Amino acid sequence: MDNQYGGRNRQPKKKSAARVVIFLFLLAVITALGVFSLGQYMAVQSLQSSLQSLEEKLDQVEKEKNRLEEQYDQLREENEELREENKMLRSETIIEHGNRDTNKVAITIDDGGSEAVNNRVLDYLKEYEVRATLFPTGQNVESYPETWRRAVEEGHELGNHTYSHPYLTSLSEEQVREELRGWREAVEKAVGGSFHSPFFRPPYGDGFYSGQANHRERLQPIVAEKGMFPIMWDVELVYALRNEAYNAARITEHVLQNARGGSIVLLHFTEADIEALPRIITGLRERGLEPCSLRELLLAEPQT
Ligand SMILES: [Zn+2]
Repeated sequence: MDNQYGGRNRQPKKKSAARVVIFLFLLAVITALGVFSLGQYMAVQSLQSSLQSLEEKLDQVEKEKNRLEEQYDQLREENEELREENKMLRSETIIEHGNRDTNKVAITIDDGGSEAVNNRVLDYLKEYEVRATLFPTGQNVESYPETWRRAVEEGHELGNHTYSHPYLTSLSEEQVREELRGWREAVEKAVGGSFHSPFFRPPYGDGFYSGQANHRERLQPIVAEKGMFPIMWDVELVYALRNEAYNAARITEHVLQNARGGSIVLLHFTEADIEALPRIITGLRERGLEPCSLRELLLAEPQT
């Protein structure tokens, strides 16, 4: 009996222990599921809030984009107006000098010479720390591309002086366009990239003198259409010294006597002009004038 009861009594104990184990197990499973679900819930909540803040940011970006687009349109309109204004100016203006209320004097040197002469000019300009505007012919650029690439690398401006230096008044409009294009192509080949100059100097000044109104009316729109201003000068030597000995001392003297603030000095790549160049630079500085490039002259703020 004892055994029987004992046996009977032990069996419920085993059962209840098993229930407890199962109960605890289920409790653990439920708790784990609960914790897991809570975690999931919180993760979803935080995802939702990040999504919301992302949407807000997207809205902001969208607004910023619209604002920038409006600004861009406005700038494009202003730019268009400036381009038109600029074009009208180019078709009207022939530049002979800059603002007289500056102490700047533009040094322009035409045609180009032998490789040695070209390099000598660049050496002087480097030594005396002057940026100049150089007007080589396209043919000279084609013959000595290295020196002209060097000129650009050293900060000098190159201006269009036609490909082959013809008298423009003897050419057809198509031939003039061809001369301008030929110069540009030669320079682009030398510098290895696209190149645009706002400056054009007519060979011999031909077609742009005050007595050549008919030619000027025909030629200037072609120059303007290529985005350039015709650049003349107010100090030159070839004509001024035509009845005198042409040497460095006389050249220097003539330039220093005639150049003043705003002047554009026209020199050439000749032995005498190049020999005079350092004396001209030093002499201008001694007179309180600052030799510079055309861009530096034409963009200079007037001194009050
Ligand atoms: Zn020339």
